[in-house]
Amino acid sequence: MDIRIHAISTGAVKLKTAQPRRKAGGALRILLDRSWTEWLPMYAWVVEHPEGVVVVDTGETARTSEPDYFHWAVRISVRMDVSPEQEIGPQLRDAGFDPDGVRMVVMTHLHTDHAGGLHHFPNTEILASNDEYQYARNQKLEYPSKHWPDWFSPSPIPFEPRAYGPFEESYSVTEAGDVVVVPTPGHTPHHVSVIVKTDGLSYFLAGDTSYTEEQLLERHPDAVSPKVKVAVQTMDRILRYAETEPTVYLPSHDPGSAERLRNKQTLNLAA
Ligand SMILES: [Zn+2]
Repeated sequence: MDIRIHAISTGAVKLKTAQPRRKAGGALRILLDRSWTEWLPMYAWVVEHPEGVVVVDTGETARTSEPDYFHWAVRISVRMDVSPEQEIGPQLRDAGFDPDGVRMVVMTHLHTDHAGGLHHFPNTEILASNDEYQYARNQKLEYPSKHWPDWFSPSPIPFEPRAYGPFEESYSVTEAGDVVVVPTPGHTPHHVSVIVKTDGLSYFLAGDTSYTEEQLLERHPDAVSPKVKVAVQTMDRILRYAETEPTVYLPSHDPGSAERLRNKQTLNLAA
């Protein structure tokens, strides 16, 4: 069986334009900004692998429409459009997958639009950076951790001090070594990405390392990253990786991600 990757968009989100593309003033600028992006996708990824199905991120939840779901500062900075049928559980079932049959869920980070579907996986091992988990559970603004399922206690990603290209550590979730978690800090301090290697291509399930492919190529950071320098270093690492490995770059909120996945369209570094 080949490896197949499916894109599942769990509804849509609009952000202040100052969030995905950092402007002067950084995170504060988001609150003052009056202009909005277009509706953006919130992708989760299903990796069909001979060793079992791996899901990367769980997308958003319809509960974001509840008035007290978000901290006020977040509520005025995002618009969400998620119906219950758009959550990852129903979408997996529609596509012929049983959420209970998923072998593993890997979290790029724990922001709500990635962790909103956790409740669909009560019987699945969930892998997340332990540092990200510890950071997120004590933080009320960006992470509505009060909404996490009671049982949520992710397995820490057991990074091995083995470099994977320009990435200093790595951990393969498959015996075959072809679904590899790498640290990509920046957007959050302990953000990770997942590289799926198949047919000579690297599918880079990027989470929020940048909001779009264009932004990666421009090395333009977002306004969320607590340390801009770290975010840019990570973008540089991804670009360096793509110099030697043909890479299909798939950020969670890039309207072009699903089409690039379908067309196996790799990063064009010469452009
Ligand atoms: Zn995020």
